[in-house]
Order: sequence, then C-alpha cells, then structure tokens
Amino acid sequence: MHKPDREQTFAKSALVLMDACRVAATPDNFELFYAHASGENPALSEVVGDMIADGIPFTPDAINDLRLRCLSGARAAADMEQVSGRMNAVMDDVLRRLESAGRDTQAYKNALSAVRGELGGENSPDDLRSLVEGLVAATRAMEQRTRSLESELQASSQQVSELRSKLDNVRKESLTDPLTGIANRKAFDDAAASAVEQIAQTGEDVSLLLCDIDHFKPFNDSWGHQPADQVLRLVASCLSENVKGRDTAARYGGEEFAILLRGVGLEAATLVANQIRQTVETKKLVKKSTGDILGAITISVGVAQFCPGESAETVIRRADACLYGAKHHGRNLVVHQNDPRMSALETSAA
Ligand code: GH3
Ligand code: MG
Ligand code: MG
Repeated sequence: MHKPDREQTFAKSALVLMDACRVAATPDNFELFYAHASGENPALSEVVGDMIADGIPFTPDAINDLRLRCLSGARAAADMEQVSGRMNAVMDDVLRRLESAGRDTQAYKNALSAVRGELGGENSPDDLRSLVEGLVAATRAMEQRTRSLESELQASSQQVSELRSKLDNVRKESLTDPLTGIANRKAFDDAAASAVEQIAQTGEDVSLLLCDIDHFKPFNDSWGHQPADQVLRLVASCLSENVKGRDTAARYGGEEFAILLRGVGLEAATLVANQIRQTVETKKLVKKSTGDILGAITISVGVAQFCPGESAETVIRRADACLYGAKHHGRNLVVHQNDPRMSALETSAA
C-alpha cells in the first residue's frame, strides 16, 4: 500500500472506532485513535484494545488519562531520538576532523625530520635557503590547518551545547502538563518512586495529597471547555502557591491533582491541604470573554502519609479513600487517614 493510502485507511478505522465507542470527533481524540489504528504506539494500542474488549467507556477522564500516559511520553521519546541522532552526527563529524588533523600533523612531522636529515651533510647556502623555505611553507600550512580546525571545533562545540539545551527542553516538556504548566502524571510517579527510596534509606516523613474539583461536571456542562480549562489552570496555580522546595504538585488526571510533600508528616500535610483548599475557595472566577461571574470553585482533598516499606500505589489508594471520605462528608473538605470520619465511613460501608 502507498503511504497516503495507508494513512487514509488508518484515519478511516480511527473514525469508525471513535463512532463505535461514542467518542466525540475532536482533533485531540482523533490523534489518540489514529495512533491506536496505525499501531505506531503499541502501549497505547494495548490499553485501548483492553478497554474495548472489557467494554470500558471512553469518558473524557479516561481519554485524558490515556493522552497523559501514552501520547506525551511517545512524543517526548521521538523528540529525544531526533536530538540524540543529531548529537551522534556532530560527534562523528568531530572525530573525522580530528583524524584528518592527525594525518596533517604526521605529514608536518615528516617534513621536519626530512629537513633535519638533510642538515647533517655539507650544505651550500642555496641548499640551506631552499630547506628553510620548505620549512616555512610547511609551518604556514600547519598553522593554517590548526586555525581552521580550531574554528571548526568551536562550531561543533556550539552545536553540541545547542543540542544539550534542546534535550533539556524536551526533558522538561515530557514532565510537564501542557495545559496547566505544572508537573504531569509521569513526573509525579517519578517523584513518588524516589520518595519511596528516600523513606527506605532515611525514614523521612513524606505525605501525599489527592485533590479533586467538586462538582466539576455540572460546571463543565454549563460553561463549556474554555472556562473549565481556566479553572484547571487556577487550581494548579493555587497548588504551586502553597508548595515549595522539594515538593511536587502535579496534574494527576483530568481534574485531579496530586501533591507530594517531602519532610512533612500527616498533621502538617493536613494544614497545607487546608491552605490550598481555602486558597481555591477564595478565588473569584470570571469568564474572560464576557465578564460573567462563574461562581466559586471548591476542591476536596484526601491526605495520607507514606509508611516505610509500602509502595506508592498503596499510599495513593489510602489518600483516594480519604478523598472519597471528603466527598461523602459534603465536599470542600480535607480528610486525612486518621480522621474519625474515615472510621465512620468504613463502618457504614461494612
Ligand atoms: P465530584 O468530584 O464533586 O464528585 O463531582 P464531579 O462532577 O467533579 O465528578 P467527577 O470528579 O467524577 O467527574 C469529573 C468531571 O470533570 C468529568 C468531566 O466533565 C470533567 N473533567 C474531567 N477531566 C477534565 C478535563 O481534563 N478537562 C475538562 N474540561 N473537564 C474535565
Ligand atoms: Mg474526579
Ligand atoms: Mg470532581
């Protein structure tokens, strides 16, 4: 099949599948389903295949999650591959130049030794003059070569440093949520894994906050996507305002945020959570395009502390149960793992 034919076939299958899965035909959704249909991203295809087989619906949350987990990583990996390919080309070029400079140096050495050998015998003034002229010419040529090699190497080293800064940018992008500018799920997972190691070594206190926007669905339904995106950015900025140093505030999923607080126990983490909750609550939301007052936004927060030896997933599950507790007890609320309201919840669930 020609390339354009293949692309059309993939595009058609993507659209048919989107229709069958009742997914809105937006460019973002198409990008995801096209990547699945083309098979270019096996990790994505596996998850999508499983979801279809198990009849799991493609809700906006689920699609967002897939984009964060499977697409941004793949894009970053492709960028990374391109940069490292260019880096290799620059290195090859430098090595070739150094090798050829090595050959030139050897030729110069040979010219010097030849002159030295000839100086041993009886030399007439004319012989001497021509030897000296030969020597001057060889030295000039070598000087010239050295100068141009120097500038060539300078250009290469500039290229290498440009590539290094591009690599830094790609790395930063791969760990950043594009909508809010704070850390993404991958950055959070990396930070949580390193916290687990740190706790094993030093027993440091580390706590986790899971935040979810209250009643975001009705907000979305009545105001649409742009104000909703504005809210996500606002909540992200409230988190950033209240964390510092080695803490990580991340967009964990669609409208869920996670914060890792290093060197902070349960009690202090609960205070931080309440500060964030209050910061969000007091913000006034105005629709940029019309000036309409959109009303207040609130969040609920679950707080858990890592125990030595337990995995990040276990702590996340505990924080998620607390978040559920906060929703259950009326929202705009912080609930931590030792909160008496949690045991009431466990009893009522039993
Ligand atoms: P609550 O959390 O208080 O129980 O109610 P909710 O209405 O917020 O319910 P839930 O957290 O289950 O639903 C999340 C809704 O948020 C679904 C969807 O309408 C919206 N949403 C989720 N992720 C995004 C996103 O990335 N962008 C936008 N615009 N909306 C999102
Ligand atoms: Mg939610
Ligand atoms: Mg919510």
